[in-house]
Amino acid sequence: MAKTATPEQNANNQQVFQLVASLLDAFDRPLVVTDRSGKILFTNFHAQDRLNEKGWSSKPDLNLFTDILHADRRQILTQLEGGEQELNLPVEGSRGKSRARIRWLPEPDWLVVYMEAVPTETPADAAEMRQTVQELMQEREITYRNLLAAYLRLQEANRQKTVFLASAAHELKTPLAVMKGYYDLLLTGSLGKLDDRQREILLESKESCDRLVRLVSMFLNYSALESGKLILQLRENDLRDCIRDITGRWSDAFSRAKVRLELKVHPELPVFKFDYQKVQQCVANFLDNALKHTPPEGCVTLLAQPHFWERRTSEAAPANDRRRGRGGRNNSILVSVSDTGSGIAAEFHQEIFEEFVRVDPSSSGMGLGLAITKRLIQAHRGKVWVDSVMGSGSTFSFLLPINVE
Ligand code: ADP
Repeated sequence: MAKTATPEQNANNQQVFQLVASLLDAFDRPLVVTDRSGKILFTNFHAQDRLNEKGWSSKPDLNLFTDILHADRRQILTQLEGGEQELNLPVEGSRGKSRARIRWLPEPDWLVVYMEAVPTETPADAAEMRQTVQELMQEREITYRNLLAAYLRLQEANRQKTVFLASAAHELKTPLAVMKGYYDLLLTGSLGKLDDRQREILLESKESCDRLVRLVSMFLNYSALESGKLILQLRENDLRDCIRDITGRWSDAFSRAKVRLELKVHPELPVFKFDYQKVQQCVANFLDNALKHTPPEGCVTLLAQPHFWERRTSEAAPANDRRRGRGGRNNSILVSVSDTGSGIAAEFHQEIFEEFVRVDPSSSGMGLGLAITKRLIQAHRGKVWVDSVMGSGSTFSFLLPINVE
């Protein structure tokens, strides 16, 4: 039969408990004593303060493991009974993060828990952090400068390469012009009568020579554009002459390739300011591409007509004025070259106007024609674009404003 405590013993125990509790108050940080189940036996003044803050002081069954530490009781006890002096566990408190240092007193089988605030960042830490950030920024600045210097060196090397290639291309111009002149002379028959075979061979050679001339001039134009040396010769010109000239030069190549070249030039194109050679080069680039990509028996149509260009700018005129403008006066000329060739997939419609882009890398060409055309037309304050559906041909167009200064 269990012995029950006498009233004197109970009074004694009560006194001991009060003594322990007031001793614990002497500690300047929160301290909790529990039995091995986690039941709170004593708390000092500071711990009580914390429990009040959390609203826990009124919780009669408050438990160290489940409510305060949120940790596995059995694991903690195993570690402490296995010989660990002290365990350190994190605790989330209302005053920020703190740490619970847990010790085991074997004799009464109690757990003593000290609560400690985890030190927050000190001014010294902040200064150290600032210094590290400054060092990182300096490093980044140095890397950036090095990158910039490397980029400028590369750009200079690239410029020198372009200048070198341009001067080499320039050197080709004279011999090519001489060759072209002799082909023309031979083809007139003034140096002797030609039979059909000889004429055919000469025509083909002349065409290759023309192609080389075009490539050289394309490259020279490109290098001029690259080095910012593009100067437009804006003069009052007749676009019909310009188109007639260029189609005259291309007609042989078209008939030999058995591709029909149709002209739809509006009879009333105004005389306006543009760079004759440059616009001719743009039309030639379109014709060259159309011919390359159109199979025999196909057709290429060159169209030129007045057009009202409704520019989309933030200062656009009110809609009514714009409509009046459309009915009244055309402000640009539309030039387009349509073919019945292979067509171009939509995802390339923007890209082909970039330098060195070719949809089919095995086809002849440098991928420069359209890029140059775009820059030349933009220099005239115009715009260039393509409409195309795979398998149904393409239409390349540009707009030239009539009143460009
Ligand atoms: P390239 O000298 O290679 O012709 P371009 O800049 O003139 O260079 O054209 C870029 C690419 O656009 C060409 O390689 C070709 O793949 C495509 N392309 C241009 N015109 C046509 C066309 N009329 N039909 C089909 N593809 C075209």
